[in-house]
Amino acid sequence: MNEISDKRKSQLRCLNCFTRFEPAEKATEVKCPKCEMEWRITWPANDSVKIRGPVWSTVK
Ligand SMILES: [Zn+2]
Repeated sequence: MNEISDKRKSQLRCLNCFTRFEPAEKATEVKCPKCEMEWRITWPANDSVKIRGPVWSTVK
């Protein structure tokens, strides 16, 4: 019954274009599929993920 809300927690919302997407499990950096902005991410719990900030080395 909680399957949908559990899945939502492991999704990110891009802070640049607000697209929701699901990162690879335990990834530390992800690229938004829409705007291709790269983000550093952290996993405060096994099934929840948060954006820490942009990957500055790839920002032009
Ligand atoms: Zn984006």
